[in-house]
Amino acid sequence: MAASTPNAAPKVGIVSLGCPKALVDSERIITRLRSEGYALSPDYDGADLVIVNTCGFLDSARAESLDAIGEALAENGKVVVTGCLGAEADLIRTTHPDVLAITGPHQYEAVLSAVHAHLPPTHDPKIDLVPEAGLRLTPRHYAYLKISEGCNNRCSFCIIPSLRGDLVSRPINAVLREAEALVASGVKEILVISQDTSAYGLDIKYAPSKWKDRMVSARFFDLAKELGDLGAWVRLHYVYPYPHVDDVIPLMADGKILPYLDIPFQHASPRVLKAMRRPANQERVLERIAEWRKTCPDLTIRSSFIVGFPGETEEDFEMLLDFIEAAGIDRAGCFKYENVDGAASRGLADHVDDDDIAERYDRFMEVQTALADARAQTLIGQTLDVLIDGYDDDMQAFEGRTKADAPEIDGVVYVSSERDLAEGDLVRVTIEEASGHELAGTEIWRGG
Ligand code: SF4
Repeated sequence: MAASTPNAAPKVGIVSLGCPKALVDSERIITRLRSEGYALSPDYDGADLVIVNTCGFLDSARAESLDAIGEALAENGKVVVTGCLGAEADLIRTTHPDVLAITGPHQYEAVLSAVHAHLPPTHDPKIDLVPEAGLRLTPRHYAYLKISEGCNNRCSFCIIPSLRGDLVSRPINAVLREAEALVASGVKEILVISQDTSAYGLDIKYAPSKWKDRMVSARFFDLAKELGDLGAWVRLHYVYPYPHVDDVIPLMADGKILPYLDIPFQHASPRVLKAMRRPANQERVLERIAEWRKTCPDLTIRSSFIVGFPGETEEDFEMLLDFIEAAGIDRAGCFKYENVDGAASRGLADHVDDDDIAERYDRFMEVQTALADARAQTLIGQTLDVLIDGYDDDMQAFEGRTKADAPEIDGVVYVSSERDLAEGDLVRVTIEEASGHELAGTEIWRGG
């Protein structure tokens, strides 16, 4: 197999089989690869890696696709499979166990992640149009890190799986490489996102991949631990309370990752949760939260809830209010149930009428605001780490967030300081005032 000379653009070959839709997919893949600095090779010899975009429509097309994979393996050795036959990963793995990765149709991100994992892009700041950490819409100092696409759950109110398909996890070395590049480009806070973060790696059987000088498994815990070594704040979003979530709490207690869990519980009544078809066992949730807080007393729990789900009775709703108080949910978003087109919950019996939904929403917000207020009062007099997001002209103060606050969705801290602070500065602030999700205080600054 020919390889690129050091510093030359890595070269990818592509074998495109099947219908015009598959051809368009191939074009999209090569367009993205070219924009990332990869070169294309017209033959196996000149390629560092070959993508085979397969067809799975007829038996003859499937046989042709399997033959093409075999040929690419024999001629080149480094092969990533995508396209329609990719949906039958077991068949491909049985016939060709040496393929590097298998992704299904239209899974561009997954194909690119597989290429990044096995043939990292080179970055030349003098000629690349795109910085190594990619183009981002967030401010320079924080960034979202997407670890997977799609979802294996089938919550009855949600149509995401029908839009985005089943869970497709990115290889862990591709995720870590992106995170490292983000930190190198000045990112101080990484927000881990997906549809179901705690399910990370399930679809790829937690496949280990090479990171630095070692193999790392694509597991939720390993991901959190490795991210925690990069020197930025790491915040976990969309975590479901599967048992293995308990394992990351000590990482939070040790300061490796932020003591913050965004768990969309959606409800607390077992009857409603069953009708919602929510993942993860809700039993013992209160006990587990108490154990988490014992291990990590600073833990902040954010959650979201739906009120007025079909069949929700007054008793169910009160169970929900009791839950947010008993669990001490620190941050809660509340959504009024909506009949989304295509969602299974549309067909459920006993839809709650709009006035009742509105009334329950108001009661939820009242309890939640009182909880947030009580929590905020306990912070007065404490000195907290605050990441500066900018300057607020109206408040005539710098604006930042504590470890308990994710950008856009949680609270803010207004900071007075005798010096000029910049976005991304991490400062110590003594809290003097508190109300709901807003805090105000003064930077502790001893000159420097
Ligand atoms: S709401 Fe349920 S089905 Fe929808 S993305 Fe989240 S876990 Fe998946």
